Amino acid sequence: MRIVMVGGGVIALLTAVQCVSAGHEVTVVDQGDIPNPAAGSFDRQRVVRALHLGDAAATAAAARALALWPGAGAGLFRRTGALTVLPDADLPRAQAALAGVGAASAVLGPAELAARFAHLRFPEGASAVLEAGAGIVLADRALAAFADRLRAHPFAELLPHRRVDAVRGTAVHLAGGEVLRADAVLVAAGAWSRPLLPPKLAAELVLHRQSQLHCRVPPADAPAWASTPTVPSLGTVGGAWLVVPVAGTPLKLSASAACRVVSTLDGQETPEPWRRRLLDLHAPAIPGLSEDWVLEARDSYYLTHAPTGGPLTVPIGERVLAHAACGGSSFKFAPLIAQSLAARLTGAARPTALRGVS
Ligand SMILES: Cc1cc2nc3c(=O)[nH]c(=O)nc-3n(C[C@H](O)[C@H](O)[C@H](O)COP(=O)(O)OP(=O)(O)OC[C@H]3O[C@@H](n4cnc5c(N)ncnc54)[C@H](O)[C@@H]3O)c2cc1C
Repeated sequence: MRIVMVGGGVIALLTAVQCVSAGHEVTVVDQGDIPNPAAGSFDRQRVVRALHLGDAAATAAAARALALWPGAGAGLFRRTGALTVLPDADLPRAQAALAGVGAASAVLGPAELAARFAHLRFPEGASAVLEAGAGIVLADRALAAFADRLRAHPFAELLPHRRVDAVRGTAVHLAGGEVLRADAVLVAAGAWSRPLLPPKLAAELVLHRQSQLHCRVPPADAPAWASTPTVPSLGTVGGAWLVVPVAGTPLKLSASAACRVVSTLDGQETPEPWRRRLLDLHAPAIPGLSEDWVLEARDSYYLTHAPTGGPLTVPIGERVLAHAACGGSSFKFAPLIAQSLAARLTGAARPTALRGVS
């Protein structure tokens, strides 16, 4: 079979790897470089953890995905652990959810948090659940490795700097008039997906813009940061979170309050008020944090499906699938999503029911 992937983000690249491994011919088309630094997938780190409190199916799927990442390529996954501050009433539920998927966890109380992480300040009286097996994928390096793997594969072709204008049946129309004909097509165009989708479906998708700061930690604190788990929730106002510096990556700061719904993609420069806001949101948790720490501020985009607030994969034609909304957490699920998409595109039996992710 010949399969065309529209988009060169983590979903299309991993699905392409699956398809060529199964003996199919694949063409990956992206409007930019492959990988494209503007893609939602492109960042220094992406967090991979099992816990999705209150969603047993997503927790089970995330645990399965977490088990797959170490095999994705040498050194691409770094086990840091993940420390999530929760209200006391939620700690037993979180531990039970993790135990239910075989993931080791521990609760750290206020005294232990203060003793182990003196370079951080958690809210007064706060406790956290530590998910030991969680970690970070070095996202930009992973994308480059997957693209290289495809470039070296005789059944794969990469077409960077080619914009897709439309997908009609299994014909992929490129800007400039060229048409790629295929037996199956995947549209995994991230935040840019809407113009390529049926209008009714596109209207159900919501565009989000999120600001992040990449920071250099003071050299004196580097050893402490090196043994700090990544922190998906600091328990502070605005849902502040951080990704710890590992393998030469910077400390990354963001917050749920730094994610907003927008109508258009409008560049990646972080507006000054959002940069300031992120520093203010993290100041209570990181003593000494200042503008001097900031190496780079950068905004990225993703779509969610309005009815669920999450990702969405749908058929949009005979043998045409769209990973129409990637949601705020598709990266971690990508190995599972790619297995499922490859099986559906090629007509192979679906390997596993994918409950909890689209
Ligand atoms: C700030 C931020 C933090 C996140 N943190 C996490 C995290 O910690 N853990 C996690 O699991 N997930 C996280 N996510 C979500 C995750 O990164 C995304 O869900 C995932 O990377 C989306 O991958 P994708 O392949 O679907 O899309 P993308 O990576 O956006 O790729 C789409 C590609 O399609 C190309 N394209 C688009 N339109 C066209 C066209 N017309 N023609 C040709 N090419 C086209 C684009 O150039 C792009 O390269 C985060 C997202 C953001 C924005």
